[in-house]
Amino acid sequence: MLDCVVVGGGPAGLTAAIYLARFHLDVRVIDAGKSRAATIPMTRNHAGFPDGIAGTDLLARMRAQARRYGAELIRAEVAGLKGVAGGLHVSVGDEVIATRSVLLATGVVNRRPPISDDLHAAALARGLLRYCPICDGYEVTDCRVAVLGTGGHGTREAMFLRSYTADVTLIAPDGKHDLSPDERALLAKGEIVVVDGPARDFAIDGDQIRLRIAQRDWGFDSLYPALGSDINSELAIGLGAARSDEGCLIVDAHQRTNIARLYAAGDVVKGLDQISHAMGEGGVAATTIRNDLASEQALLRSAPDG
Ligand SMILES: Cc1cc2nc3c(=O)[nH]c(=O)nc-3n(C[C@H](O)[C@H](O)[C@H](O)COP(=O)(O)OP(=O)(O)OC[C@H]3O[C@@H](n4cnc5c(N)ncnc54)[C@H](O)[C@@H]3O)c2cc1C
Repeated sequence: MLDCVVVGGGPAGLTAAIYLARFHLDVRVIDAGKSRAATIPMTRNHAGFPDGIAGTDLLARMRAQARRYGAELIRAEVAGLKGVAGGLHVSVGDEVIATRSVLLATGVVNRRPPISDDLHAAALARGLLRYCPICDGYEVTDCRVAVLGTGGHGTREAMFLRSYTADVTLIAPDGKHDLSPDERALLAKGEIVVVDGPARDFAIDGDQIRLRIAQRDWGFDSLYPALGSDINSELAIGLGAARSDEGCLIVDAHQRTNIARLYAAGDVVKGLDQISHAMGEGGVAATTIRNDLASEQALLRSAPDG
C-alpha cells in the first residue's frame, strides 16, 4: 500500500510530492498533464525568478526535484476514488491502486472564448490573450485592454485592470450586458467603455488581437476572458466531500477535506489561484498527511543494512 497518491502534477501536487518524498514516504503522482501553469508563457510574479520563468520550465524543475527524492510520477487520468478500510482505492484505467491517503491537486479549467485551439495557443503565447490580472496586469500597464465578461465578475475584473491602464473596454460575451445599476455606475466612474456583444471573428493582427462586434472591428493589446472556471473536484464530490457553491473543495486549516484520508490543495480549493498559494497549500497538505499517518503508525526508520 502506498502512503499517498497525489492526483494532479501542477505546482500544488508537485510541491506536496517533494515534501512527501523527503519525509521518506511512498508517493505516486498521477497527472493528466493539463496544468494551468503549463500555459504560462512567462511568469513574472513568482518570487525567486527576477527575470521570470516559463510555466513549463518551472514544472520541469519541480518534477526533477520530486523524482530526485524518490517520488514516482505517472501520466494518466484518475477515473475514481473509493474509501476502503485503512485507506482508499484509486482507479486508473484497469489498475486499482491502494493507498493510505490521497491528495487532490486537480486544479481548475478556465472557460474559453469561442476561438480555435490554434489561435488560442498563439494568442496566449504572445500575451494577446490573458487569464490572470493578478499575475500579469502589470504587463498591460498603459495598454489597450478588453475584458470579455459581464455582471459582477466582469465588472470586478475590468475595475481591477483599470488600476493598470485608462483604456479598458468591457464586452458582453453573449449579447446584452447583464449589469446592475450599481455596476454600471462603477464602470462609468472608471470611464470603462461598455459594449454589448457578442464578439466574434477573433484574429491576431500584428501586435493586437482583433474581434468583430456587429459591423465594427476592434483591436486590443490584450484580451482577458472573465468567463469563470470549472473546478476539477468531481472525484472528491463523488466521495461526499464538502464544496462551495462554485464547486471548490472545502478544507480545514491543514488541507483536510471532510472525508477521512482525503486532502486537497491548490486551485481546486477556494483561495487565491496563484502558484505561490498552490505551493503553500501543497506543503501544508504534505506535512498534515505525514503527521496523520504517523499518528496511526509510528514512522520509525530501520537501521541501514550492514
Ligand atoms: C494563462 C495563465 C497564466 C497564469 N500566470 C500565472 C502567474 O504568472 N503567476 C501565478 O502565480 N499564477 C499564474 N497562473 C495561475 C496558476 O497557473 C495556477 O494558480 C496554478 O497552476 C495552480 O496550480 P494547481 O497545482 O492547483 O493546478 P494546476 O497547475 O492546474 O494542475 C492541476 C493538474 O491536475 C491534473 N488533473 C486534473 N484532474 C485529474 C485527474 N482526474 N487525474 C489526473 N490528473 C488530473 C491536471 O491535468 C493538471 O495537470 C496563470 C494561469 C493561467 C491560465
